[in-house]
Amino acid sequence: MGHQFMVDMTLGKLARWLRILGFDTVAVREGSDRDLTDRQNRLFLSRNRGLLAKLRGQSHLLLRSHGVAGQMRELFTALQITSTDLPGTPRCSLCNMELIRIERRAVRPFVPDYVACHAARFGRCPQCGRIYWPGTHQRRMGLFMEQVFPHGTSHNADLGSLRCGF
Ligand SMILES: [Zn+2]
Repeated sequence: MGHQFMVDMTLGKLARWLRILGFDTVAVREGSDRDLTDRQNRLFLSRNRGLLAKLRGQSHLLLRSHGVAGQMRELFTALQITSTDLPGTPRCSLCNMELIRIERRAVRPFVPDYVACHAARFGRCPQCGRIYWPGTHQRRMGLFMEQVFPHGTSHNADLGSLRCGF
C-alpha cells in the first residue's frame, strides 16, 4: 500500500505510531506555508478544522479523536486499511526512514546483553542510527493494535518499537 501521510505537529504521537507501522509520515509545523507547499501527494491529517481549510486542494482528513488509537482507527476506517494492508518494513519513529535489518553481532556494542541475546531481530535507522527490536514494548503494541483493529490483527509479530539511543 502506498499511503503517505502528513500530520500537523500536534499529532506527533500519531506520526510516530504510523512510522513504526511502516507508513511514510511527515510532520509539519502548523501554519508554516513553506512546509505546507512541500506536500507532495500526501494525505494531510489534522484535528484542526481551520488549518485544513487553508489547504486549498490537498486531500485531507479531519480526525476527531483525542487518543492516538482512536485517531488511527478513524484513519484506517476512512481509507479502508485493514491489519493485512500494513506496510512490511517499519520506519524510524523519529526520522521516518525505513529500518535496515542488521545482524545480531552488529548490535552487541549498542544494546544491553540480554537484548542482544534474546531479541529475534534488529533494525537500524540509516539516518540517526537508533536500533529497534521487537521486545519490551511488544505486548503494549499488541494491546494497542487490538484497539485499532478490534476485529483482529495478525500483524504485531514483526514490529520493533523499542529504541536504544547511544
Ligand atoms: Zn532515525
